[in-house]
Amino acid sequence: MASRNSKLFLPFSCILLLASFILTVLSHPHDTHLRPNTLSSKDTNSSPFGSLKAMQGSHKGDTVKGIRDLKLYLAHFGYLNYHKNPNLADLEEDHFDDKLEVALKSYQVYYHLNATGTLDEPTISQMAMPRCGFPDKVIHQHTDNSFHIVSHYQFLPGTPKWPSVKRHLTYGFGPLFPTRFMPPVTRAFNKWATASGRYFTFTRATSYQGADLKISFQRVSHGDGSPFNGSGAVLAHAFPPVDGRLHFDADERWAIGAVPNTFDMETLALHEIGHLLGLDHSQFQSAIMWGSFSAGVTKGLTSDDIQGLRALYGI
Ligand SMILES: [Zn+2]
Ligand SMILES: [Zn+2]
Repeated sequence: MASRNSKLFLPFSCILLLASFILTVLSHPHDTHLRPNTLSSKDTNSSPFGSLKAMQGSHKGDTVKGIRDLKLYLAHFGYLNYHKNPNLADLEEDHFDDKLEVALKSYQVYYHLNATGTLDEPTISQMAMPRCGFPDKVIHQHTDNSFHIVSHYQFLPGTPKWPSVKRHLTYGFGPLFPTRFMPPVTRAFNKWATASGRYFTFTRATSYQGADLKISFQRVSHGDGSPFNGSGAVLAHAFPPVDGRLHFDADERWAIGAVPNTFDMETLALHEIGHLLGLDHSQFQSAIMWGSFSAGVTKGLTSDDIQGLRALYGI
């Protein structure tokens, strides 16, 4: 219980783009939950890598021996709705069809490769790497037999969330919070409230101490075990439900809107509120829940973020 609590109380830091994505991943304690199921070397040997190599350069319209293995691989990790049909001739199963192209592009996008739709060398190399056995995506089958792929957004380990009786949340600003940055944070709350279809509503608390969500400017070591590091690297962090703390690094250059060499307060507030509500980082680069930020740009909520929140709370 003690270790579970200490894990829950680690905030989620948001790292600058220049601090490299790898650093971001390594610095996030909750990312480890994706790792225990990495394939063993035995599994790797049985992966379709051998046949993939022989198929290098394949694209839509081709019929190449082994395409069905590619279909099975993409189906296993949630990119394609495919089951090998024993009644079909192998030749037909080895046809690179429209659905496979869509699935392959989706895979390439997820791993930030060029979405060529062709089984090119970078894609084969990515597929050959040891990986988590858990699907990247969940395919929802609809009654009309069409299906779409839901992905990108993620929930925090243990799926912490606000109890259903707690849909109206109050927020308060710490004593050193600059007054001029209060309106962009309030706008961020309003955007999440709208995105939730008013499932959540947010109002400013009468006192900081009594607020459900406590928002403050902090610098360096500030008593929560996750010190900021001066200017650069970590911009802000927030704690999962139902802790409610959100800290901005006071040593960063903050602004309202897209101002060169500064970070937009509303953009970071949107991201951190996502953590306060229980969302993890998204794999979707344009999502507000993507884990890194560039200076001088603004971002808003995307359908990925909104779908994530709605899925988490069953809205
Ligand atoms: Zn974050
Ligand atoms: Zn903190």
